[in-house]
Amino acid sequence: MSACRSGPRRHTCTDRPRTTLAPAGPVRATHPSYVWSRPLSARRIDLHTHSTASDGTTEPGELVLQARLAGLDVVALTDHDTTSGWAPAAASRPEGLALVRGAEISCSRGGISLHLLAYLFDAEEPDLAARLAALVDSRVHRAERMVALLAADGAGVTWERVRQLAGGTVGRPHVAQALIEQGHVSTVSEAFTPEWIGTHGRYWVGKLELDVVEAVGLVVRAGGAAVFAHPAARRRGRTVTDDVITEMAAAGLAGLEVDHVDHDAQARADLRALAADLDLVTTGSSDYHGTNKTVQLAANLTPESSYEAIVERATGVPVLGP
Ligand code: AMP
Ligand code: ZN
Ligand code: FE
Ligand code: FE
Repeated sequence: MSACRSGPRRHTCTDRPRTTLAPAGPVRATHPSYVWSRPLSARRIDLHTHSTASDGTTEPGELVLQARLAGLDVVALTDHDTTSGWAPAAASRPEGLALVRGAEISCSRGGISLHLLAYLFDAEEPDLAARLAALVDSRVHRAERMVALLAADGAGVTWERVRQLAGGTVGRPHVAQALIEQGHVSTVSEAFTPEWIGTHGRYWVGKLELDVVEAVGLVVRAGGAAVFAHPAARRRGRTVTDDVITEMAAAGLAGLEVDHVDHDAQARADLRALAADLDLVTTGSSDYHGTNKTVQLAANLTPESSYEAIVERATGVPVLGP
């Protein structure tokens, strides 16, 4: 596995992944940084994607094909609070693509909504499975209430339609699609505003969320590896302080998602420093949602060494494929 011998809990060594000089060529010769930043042997790894099993628009079986077409060697399927996309994704996985089965768990701390990525956990483990089922159930009731509020104001959005739009776990993007159909907004993002279903907005209703530190423990006990998703995505609302991340690390957190479309350069630098302090790996990923967001597969990538540390740590289910 990794060239680093320090083990998954202590990634303090300075071993770099197999670094190979890129062949000289007209383009690369004008970009010397390329030579050092991207080893030829490194796999292209995207550890955060959504399918129609939650609020993405690409079927799980199609997503794995798209992932390969996007040049990925490893993709993680991380639908919100559900593992229902695992089987269809596995069934369609193209040769040469490694599939990491995961989920993105709805969490909170102090009234701040947070997301925890969980990888390679045992989906049958009763405690975690029960909590995920409760989250999915709460999403249904909460979406019904948002629709009722909209209907009371004559928005023309019906629960029947929202349920049709949601093939799996229902989320605000499905309500947003119904608002687009009714001509109230023209993009999903436009619905995430105070006038509509933005957090604490006019038609927003909260949902059940797990305490983020408790969730790390649940994932670890189910044999999974936990990574804090977009910890500094301030655009979505308030974010937590380093103290909470320190608590998560003590509970067994494996890493921080650093390279994410919602993080600017300063946020990435701060998170990288915090990860080094807390002995956490750093990941990068697209958070692909199909046409519900503009970001594309492979928009951000995870270093090989971080991926290997996550895989070494997890005991729930294996990576499928090479
Ligand atoms: P929910 O989990 O139902 O509360 O909906 C939140 C989800 O909506 C997030 O996980 C994102 O996938 C998506 N989302 C949040 N903010 C935006 C936005 N500004 N534009 C588009 N999608 C968003
Ligand atoms: Zn989402
Ligand atoms: Fe998220
Ligand atoms: Fe996500």
